[in-house]
Amino acid sequence: AEVRVELETHSYTIHITAGGISRVGALMRDLFSGDKALIVTDENVYPLYAERLVTSLTAAGFTPAVITVPAGESSKSLVTSDFVYTKAITMGLDRKSPLIALGGGVVGDLAGFVAATYLRGVPFIQVPTTLLAQVDSSVGGKTAVNHALGKNLIGTFYQPGLVVIDTEALQTLPARELKAGLAEVVKYGVITDYDFLSYLKKNTDALLIPDLNVLTTVIAKCCQIKAGVVAQDEREDSLRMMLNFGHTVGHAVEAVGGYSEYNHGEAVAVGMHAAALISQRIGLCRQSHVDFLRNLLSSLGLPLQASGYLPKDLLSYLARDKKVVNGKINWVLMSELGQVTITREVSQAIIMEILSEITI
Ligand code: NAD
Ligand code: ZN
Repeated sequence: AEVRVELETHSYTIHITAGGISRVGALMRDLFSGDKALIVTDENVYPLYAERLVTSLTAAGFTPAVITVPAGESSKSLVTSDFVYTKAITMGLDRKSPLIALGGGVVGDLAGFVAATYLRGVPFIQVPTTLLAQVDSSVGGKTAVNHALGKNLIGTFYQPGLVVIDTEALQTLPARELKAGLAEVVKYGVITDYDFLSYLKKNTDALLIPDLNVLTTVIAKCCQIKAGVVAQDEREDSLRMMLNFGHTVGHAVEAVGGYSEYNHGEAVAVGMHAAALISQRIGLCRQSHVDFLRNLLSSLGLPLQASGYLPKDLLSYLARDKKVVNGKINWVLMSELGQVTITREVSQAIIMEILSEITI
């Protein structure tokens, strides 16, 4: 499948296919004239997929180099960026030569940040290998590294010139990471499409296997939704905010757990549950909508609660969220399955009540 991301100055195509990694070189040849290329990957992905990508690039006439960073969130840093800049400079990567991210969201965000800033910007290609990166972080052009004082604080919008999603990579992805990606998949359904949610519900077993045919359909759908939203609001002024459904409480859960207890997708699952409960509590949606979402998340093996966490700890992180404007939180809430609305009018009392419910 192919999804086109239409942006004012830099449109690009997302290719979704089993075995996509072996096609990257050929797809690049049509777009980029440079002959060098730098692949950024992590130590888990390197032994699985780097050789395939290098072979593909070499066959297409590129001279690729590979830089491997440690796996995990700590690689999204200025220190690791500097390590990649040094490699780019010493190998003589020029303005026409692409930087390629091969890995999950960590590698994508890091490589994207380096691509945006090295020589004021070199061509950037995403080859996402986690489901989360395939449906979310590789599309939309947000890049960032972390600062000791907070996540994603240093970054920029920088669109890739090409995204190649190889569904076969999902076969080696640990089950926990697969489920984390499925949380974002559910999010796309909740914000835009009830039929898609029913499809997910019918196919929970296939999703968890993972059945690559079902996953291809699902990934294409998610990329289409995200591409549509990003095309209308590239820099997150308004519409794009709905992609944050479940992320307000989700980010707080992640942070309170020190970014180690719950991964991003798990935290977002808890956050979506919280958002649904708030929606129901203020009369925006029905109990049956909340029940549907809970069932779906549970059958995908995702958590609904951050048991044992303290509501006041979560609350203190909510206040620091980037979505806070003039001291008020922009809540993305569910009005129906397949539709969300944004409001700042949720009382502190209701927030605390729901935070208590999700920490039991
Ligand atoms: P990740 O990149 O850390 O990958 C998760 C783990 O899976 C890592 O250990 C990795 O080595 C391993 N892995 C990756 N692909 C594999 C494969 N095919 N087989 C086996 N193992 C594999 O984490 P992630 O969940 O992909 O991404 C999380 C990051 O993405 C966070 O830093 C988050 O802030 C960022 N993010 C960015 C955006 C955005 O719009 N830019 C959106 C969502 C999340
Ligand atoms: Zn997310």
